[in-house]
Amino acid sequence: MTKNSSNTMALAPSTANKRETICIFGTGDFGRALGQKLIQSGYPVVFGSRSTKTSSLIPRGAEVLSHAEAAQRAAIIIVAIQRQHYSFLTPLAEALQGKVLVDISNNLKLDQYPESNAQHLAQLLPAAKVVKAFNTVSAWALQSGTLDASRQVFVCGDDMEAKQMVMDLVRALGLTPLDQGSLLAAREIENYPLQLFPMWRFPIFLSLGLTIFFFLYCLALDIIYPYVYQKKDLSFLIAISIPNKVCPVLALVLLGLVYVPGVLAAILQLWRGTKYRRFPGWLDRWMLCRKQLGLVALAFASVHVLYTLVTPIRSYVKWRTSSQVVSQALSNTTEPLNTTNAWLSDSYLALGILGFFLFVLLGITSLPSVSNSVNWREFRFVQSKLGYLTLVLCTAHTLVYGGKWFLVPSSYKWYLPPIYMLSLIIPCAVLVVKFVLILPCLDKPLTQIRQGWERNPQYSE
Ligand code: NAP
Repeated sequence: MTKNSSNTMALAPSTANKRETICIFGTGDFGRALGQKLIQSGYPVVFGSRSTKTSSLIPRGAEVLSHAEAAQRAAIIIVAIQRQHYSFLTPLAEALQGKVLVDISNNLKLDQYPESNAQHLAQLLPAAKVVKAFNTVSAWALQSGTLDASRQVFVCGDDMEAKQMVMDLVRALGLTPLDQGSLLAAREIENYPLQLFPMWRFPIFLSLGLTIFFFLYCLALDIIYPYVYQKKDLSFLIAISIPNKVCPVLALVLLGLVYVPGVLAAILQLWRGTKYRRFPGWLDRWMLCRKQLGLVALAFASVHVLYTLVTPIRSYVKWRTSSQVVSQALSNTTEPLNTTNAWLSDSYLALGILGFFLFVLLGITSLPSVSNSVNWREFRFVQSKLGYLTLVLCTAHTLVYGGKWFLVPSSYKWYLPPIYMLSLIIPCAVLVVKFVLILPCLDKPLTQIRQGWERNPQYSE
């Protein structure tokens, strides 16, 4: 009985939980959407507007007052107005003294103004405590409740207490505040919503360039060459055969490129004898987009798997199989099973299946929901150790596939190597260098360097 009553007490509404009134300047799209969300979360909302006439668009339960009147009613004021209109706030300086002003504004271009909008607001109203927040959340997401992708709210400000109040407000709305430091960070936060897949640009342009190159390479060797020398029209290969050569080649090259920057970084650190010198900008950028490179590689590998699965139902393959059977029947011969070929073919398929399985596993662990649930050591184990194992299996899959053709002169049409040989250059180079780097004579100093040891300490006493 006592237990029950204590539970009831805990659930009973208490006056201590009463929410503070929040003021929003501006009854535009964002102001109204945020107002609605605040009311749903139990906050009394008052709008400061140029027109105090309320309309059906204003969330039910909210009041609309003049800016000065609304400002008096709350400690936190959300400025849901474009930066170019901020000058209207100057006459309100007295009413806004000591208030927490939340700047939620965005710009139309990256680095549009010399200072961030939040810093501009702080300069206009030095007696107010300006905090930047909410700019990466859209009015549409607030209204529709589809906040999954934008649950994180970046918050920054110079006044710790004001920042804490805004972070509490963010939490009360069911969002996750991420403290980004002082108001100096506002510039970067304002640039976030304007960036268009910054980490995907390099992998996508690179794979596009490589796709065109490898496609034209196959076109020349598989279609133009037989047409020129044998007058054979093999143009139908463009639909399945050529893509099914280009996709695995791209998957392997891109997977190799995921591990190139790590190997280069290790060589640089060994060469310099320290980890405290910055890598060149291009290497830093390359390292940052390794996950995206890997995911593009996985996409190509998946398409390769799909293309391979349809091979038995292709009319060209059916024709080739039946004509082999017919020619054996006509000549009354039976080709004996070549066990070496059978071994090679089965090993090549087995390596491909295992490589693809690990590749998918790598892709799954790179998803934020999965990577957040493993610790740093587990993540490194999967991405580095299993990653290298995937590279070894996929490289072996290609080597076994083409191994026996390496020394056959007819494979080199126009003196050019077959496409799968090209695909092996980067992965093999990475694996060889990695193998050298894990030799104890290099691995030991590298581990020490990564733990902070320096060959020629910069700041020696
Ligand atoms: P909006 O629909 O155009 O609303 C802006 C509001 O500002 C107007 O409704 C008006 O409110 C007020 N206003 C306009 N001219 C003014 C002036 N000369 N003086 C004083 N107040 C003026 O714009 P919004 O989409 O809500 O965006 C507002 C701010 O939120 C922008 O800085 C935007 O970058 C930022 N933001 C928007 C979104 C979004 O999804 N929309 C997302 C993140 C951030 P009254 O008529 O009530 O005075």
